[in-house]
Amino acid sequence: MDHSGLHQYQTVCGTLCRENLGHCQPHEHIYITSTVDQLTCELTCINNLAKSIEEIRSYRRAGGMTAVDANPLATGRDPLGLKDISRITGVNLIAVTGYHIPKFYPRGHWIYTEPEERLEELFVSELQKGMYLGGSYFYPEYQTDIRAGLIKAVITSAGMEDAQTVKCLTAAGKAAVRTGASIMVHTENRDVLRMIDFLAGRIGVATESIIVCHVDRQVEDLSIHEQVASTGVFMEYDTITLLKVHNNASEIRMLLHMIEKGFLDQILISTDPETNRLNAYGGLVGIDYILKHFLPLLKLAGVSEEEIRRITVENPARALKMDGVSA
Ligand SMILES: [Zn+2]
Repeated sequence: MDHSGLHQYQTVCGTLCRENLGHCQPHEHIYITSTVDQLTCELTCINNLAKSIEEIRSYRRAGGMTAVDANPLATGRDPLGLKDISRITGVNLIAVTGYHIPKFYPRGHWIYTEPEERLEELFVSELQKGMYLGGSYFYPEYQTDIRAGLIKAVITSAGMEDAQTVKCLTAAGKAAVRTGASIMVHTENRDVLRMIDFLAGRIGVATESIIVCHVDRQVEDLSIHEQVASTGVFMEYDTITLLKVHNNASEIRMLLHMIEKGFLDQILISTDPETNRLNAYGGLVGIDYILKHFLPLLKLAGVSEEEIRRITVENPARALKMDGVSA
């Protein structure tokens, strides 16, 4: 069935239709409370509600309409806090279920000990009924009526030989198939094509529902970018503002190359920030950097207004749609 024009999105404040999505950054970190990583690392202490509101207000003032908060269940995600931030700022926020990289979990965490089927049910329930509170240390008990709108999954440098990787990826993939939600996958430049083949070929996830994260952070070999994009997945260039890894010039070079090779409609851009890259937390850059600084540079490099609209509005609208959503 052709759903074009009828796509819906599941935000922390309810369902949203396509016209209201606007400029969207599909991988941000807006508010994170109570995760084990915060005990040893300041970089994930994005835990001051007033500062997070300030950050998203600046994004709104710059023209931002929608953003994804990419911390999933049991890694400090707070559905109630996200809903408050969205209500106060007027920015649509999409929260995610699923799971994250190992540094967010204490050793022996339930995400690794629960069977695949139970994780799948949990992810489906968060998408269809509501997200749970807590879970960072103990199996979550309290379910809100605020629904997730996307699934996060991970393939680390352990690759597809790792049994935990396959278990969690299977649970996330099956939840995507059952709910119509898309799946964003953290990658570390290992087995990315195998992961896509597994999700699409074995589990049955449509490649246009798969978002491959961190493609710019991992590798600048453009032939690999082309190979991954040829599968039909969304390519997420989400390292913008992480200037120690690569500067704007190299980011723009990658984007120009992918546009020239015909992959314009698969490009997503975002900043995937840590605490030190949020203005409101004292950083020199912020979530509004793309709108204020990066897009003007992209224009100077020859990317047209229309192409920028495709990357920042149309592509997220296709990548984040959740057609299985009930109104
Ligand atoms: Zn992230």
